[in-house]
Amino acid sequence: MKIAFYTLGCKTNQFETQALETMFSERGHEIVPFNQAADAYVINTCTVTAMGDRKSRNAAHRAKALNPDCILVVCGCYAQVKPEEVKEMCGADVVCGNGDKSRIIELTEQAVAERQYICTVRSGFDHGPFDFMPAGSLKGRTRALLKVQDGCQNFCSYCLIPYARGLSRSMPLEQVRSEAVRLGEAGYKEIVVTGIEISSYGFDLPGKLTPTEMIAVICEAAPEARIRLGSLEPRTVTEDFCKTLAPYKNLCPHFHLSLQSGCDKTLKDMNRKYDTARYFLSCQLLRRYFPGCAITTDLIVGFPGETEEDFDNTLAFVEKCAFAQVHIFPYSSRPGTRAASMPGHLTHAQKQVRAKRAADVCGLSRKAYLESLVGQTVEVLFEQSQKGLYSGHCPQYCLVKAEGSRLSGKLRQVRIDSTDGECLYGEIL
Ligand code: SF4
Repeated sequence: MKIAFYTLGCKTNQFETQALETMFSERGHEIVPFNQAADAYVINTCTVTAMGDRKSRNAAHRAKALNPDCILVVCGCYAQVKPEEVKEMCGADVVCGNGDKSRIIELTEQAVAERQYICTVRSGFDHGPFDFMPAGSLKGRTRALLKVQDGCQNFCSYCLIPYARGLSRSMPLEQVRSEAVRLGEAGYKEIVVTGIEISSYGFDLPGKLTPTEMIAVICEAAPEARIRLGSLEPRTVTEDFCKTLAPYKNLCPHFHLSLQSGCDKTLKDMNRKYDTARYFLSCQLLRRYFPGCAITTDLIVGFPGETEEDFDNTLAFVEKCAFAQVHIFPYSSRPGTRAASMPGHLTHAQKQVRAKRAADVCGLSRKAYLESLVGQTVEVLFEQSQKGLYSGHCPQYCLVKAEGSRLSGKLRQVRIDSTDGECLYGEIL
């Protein structure tokens, strides 16, 4: 069969799609691009925002337009949370729950053979231990995602993910080690440690392991690969975390600490478990132990009840943290969450104004961070070329462009000469 994939949302979804592509391919099926006619299309959906739902439906309609007789398999968090809507509005033949992703091949083959609707969605909390899927990619050996954890039990008031993914469960540490060894030996240049909430890693395992131990194991198991961490809850960063991990030179000095708001009242309303003082302590620790590191974050603007003063506090705090990059999300109401029924929802226009103001502040700190790298030599993992320039990322996860040829998948030392505030430009040494 010809199978095409479309992935929305987070790195965990990207990991799972990579794993599914590998599994389908090993079974003898052919993976084709999503814009080509295929026998089956697998859409790995996201429901973090209303936009995620809409994009998932659009992808489904595109697949049916390419081949009206195809088997349409919809999986991921939108499928898990709204299986009926996915069946009706996407025209799905298979709606696969998050607990059954590793069974998608079997379900797809069954749907092709029987032409019967299949839905495997159970409660998001009804799951077994960590559902293992192999890490790696069919698309070269540049960067591999390694999913070490699934689920979340933080129950932030705006988020549906705990209902879609269930409670946190972790890959056993020995399996983490062997997967990292395998990826390192396979020649991957970078391993991205991913999960829904990797800061919860290990709490469910015997002996209550910590994320710090897991990260150290990966750094040791794949010493030739750069190790990049996915998003961390700010309280994961402690003196012990920094002291343990700073000696690993293959750990990228890039830390994504979810902030969401720089106002303590709003953080409380969001049911986040830290305040701005604790967050700032994490930034200080990281900068002390990893000098020059990039700290990046996510920010939700226009949360219900966020006043002008609250938002001003957020902007002042964001400025103080001097982030290398901020992903800004206007608040998106998700029915079924506590925040959806809170008073004080802002209009679309008000949220857009706040997003623009935040982007202006964050743009300045990004520019300042990029300027701090001018004159330095960084190691760049090149990925693609466009208009005569190759581009790739440095350990700090800034985009670097340089002249060169046949650089895809190669690591090169680059002297940074300039920045335009968006990316860095340099010369390969
Ligand atoms: S930490 Fe909060 S925002 Fe992140 S997945 Fe868990 S509940 Fe959602």
